[in-house]
Amino acid sequence: MSGTIAEFDLIRRYFAVHAPQHPYNPLGIGDDCALLNVPAGYQLAVTTDTMVENVHFFADVDPESLGHKLLAVNLSDLAAMGAEPFAVTLALTLPATDESWLQAFSRGFMALARQYGVDLVGGDTTSGPLTLSVQAMGVVPEGRALLRSGAQAGDAVYVTGQLGNAGLGLKIKQGYDCNRPDLALQCFNKPQPRIEQGLALRGIANACIDISDGLAADLGHILEQSGVGARLQWERLPLSAQVQEYVERSNDWRMPLTAGDDYELCFTVPADFAGQLPGGSIQVGTIEAEPGLRVERAGVTEIFEAKGYEHFS
Ligand code: ADP
Ligand code: MG
Repeated sequence: MSGTIAEFDLIRRYFAVHAPQHPYNPLGIGDDCALLNVPAGYQLAVTTDTMVENVHFFADVDPESLGHKLLAVNLSDLAAMGAEPFAVTLALTLPATDESWLQAFSRGFMALARQYGVDLVGGDTTSGPLTLSVQAMGVVPEGRALLRSGAQAGDAVYVTGQLGNAGLGLKIKQGYDCNRPDLALQCFNKPQPRIEQGLALRGIANACIDISDGLAADLGHILEQSGVGARLQWERLPLSAQVQEYVERSNDWRMPLTAGDDYELCFTVPADFAGQLPGGSIQVGTIEAEPGLRVERAGVTEIFEAKGYEHFS
């Protein structure tokens, strides 16, 4: 590792700043491996997401937001499984050791980790083009994880929170003129993983996924893996005033269905479900036996070709 600060000092100064808080992490950072205690009757849910400069974020990104978002996108995968996060590892590839960058990045990362009682238990630090990877670990009672494969014809399709705010944030970064850009930029830069909602959906949702590539593509994964289809009512989509205004001005009504980075949950529940859903959940459609995604808008039904972001196409 080149730069002005040695790798070990860097880790100690910016990442090994808290003793592990969680009883599942007896050791913390500093040995050859982290040690995790998973209690009997629980399964370990594990996910990894990598962010690469100029692919997942702009070179001029605020490093504090980047630290937050890198962790948030990983915790969002645990939320989508109904898993409770407790530990993460962090692999950093850095072109140089810029201390003010590291300070801001670790501030954003650690603040979100603390918010959810998650310990950073290890990682790796190397020199090269800016690439950031997190592995996140959570626990879920055996057999109770929320899968993509459980949706049934007749289920109601729900989303937590609003759609398209992060997509609008990206458009603003690319030059779209929005007179109240704050919400959209906040959603794009600092998405909130829907951990509490995912936990509340255990035993309730038949299927669940987090919306990283747009509702159409991510609901599409549920449909494919469950062997069903769905019908959405566009008018039911929960849109902010700014996204509504964008759609009116541009006529780009597909944006809230296709733009990525919202990190809300999409889940399905049995039609006769009568209990409590997480606050802010909105029904946007219904699961149908016939495969495919149909979107009703202004009385017209469109067959939706759902394609997420493809890295190799
Ligand atoms: P090793 O060569 O045995 O892999 P390293 O020198 O890579 O050890 O790391 C030393 C310790 O610091 C290990 O416990 C490792 O998990 C931790 N570590 C390294 N980089 C990071 C990082 N970016 N964030 C958190 N912990 C890290
Ligand atoms: Mg190492």
